[in-house]
Amino acid sequence: MKKVWAFCKKHKILVITVSVVLSLVIVFSCLGALVFTRYSEGVLPTAEDLKSAVTYERVLVIGVDGAGNYFPQVNTPNIDRIFGEGSVNYNALSQYPTTSAHNWTSMFHGVRYQKHGVNNFVAEKKKYSKNKYPSVFKVCAEKYPDAKMISAAAWNPINYGIMEDLDNLIKFSGPLKHKDDKYLTKGDVDMKEAFISEIESGTSPKIAFMYFAQVDEFGHDKGKKAQYWEAIERVDGYIGEVYDEYVAKGWEKDTLFLLVTDHGHRTLGGHGGNSKTERTVTIAVAGAKGNIIKGQPAGKAVTQDVASIILYGLGIEQPESWESRVPYGIFNTLPLSA
Ligand SMILES: [Zn+2]
Repeated sequence: MKKVWAFCKKHKILVITVSVVLSLVIVFSCLGALVFTRYSEGVLPTAEDLKSAVTYERVLVIGVDGAGNYFPQVNTPNIDRIFGEGSVNYNALSQYPTTSAHNWTSMFHGVRYQKHGVNNFVAEKKKYSKNKYPSVFKVCAEKYPDAKMISAAAWNPINYGIMEDLDNLIKFSGPLKHKDDKYLTKGDVDMKEAFISEIESGTSPKIAFMYFAQVDEFGHDKGKKAQYWEAIERVDGYIGEVYDEYVAKGWEKDTLFLLVTDHGHRTLGGHGGNSKTERTVTIAVAGAKGNIIKGQPAGKAVTQDVASIILYGLGIEQPESWESRVPYGIFNTLPLSA
């Protein structure tokens, strides 16, 4: 302690400068989180809305970490064939700060980051504990106690700190450290294979989440260079394989498909800020029951709204504690504007 005090006395100006800068960073982060908070608009489905809803037997959510709204910039034949007739929002909004756990938690627990409080550090170290804001998996398990569900994600915090441990939820997770698989390219293949094997073994998941990590890993390390765009194209191939498994089971007729991203990347790589490219994300919805409006929806959509879309697709009422809404302009069975 004495040594610290002596150091501070000797380097007074340095210590004062560092303290001021740190305080400013904290103050601006808090202000930023408030200023850039994105509230949901859209529809809170009533009991009547749910009664008249066109519902699906199951939901498959495909997550591509760090892919922003860039799919049209590369060759994605599988995304095109799955979502070509669907509602494809390339102007949806991320949570602020634009980081991963903030958004994946919002998407599955129906609230903003300010409510769930799960950032990357928390998701890595701590099991999800905000019982007040249950995930779509937990809500679904209460309604359908015998239902099976799957969450497959090579980025470990998804299944460790974001999704609850539930008897109904089969988890496939990558290791916390992945030095020998720097970009999680092997991890993504392992998860995709595990997911497909589980379905081939007879599991019919009511809700399934197939998450891909490598696009974000390349974005961080390389920026938006060739390897980043190639990663998106490679993941598109995996998405095709997963979709084909659903087709092989005859499930494409009664499955609601979602494609979601959590944030984009700056040109040189990295995210967390409020630039348009970091905060603009994709929420695409497709299904073969004639209730989805093709094209870019006009309504505002934020990542937490994914939770409402999933439950509405299954005809399940969302928890009162959630803030999320079904964005206007996705389903023709709900009001199209306020
Ligand atoms: Zn991310």
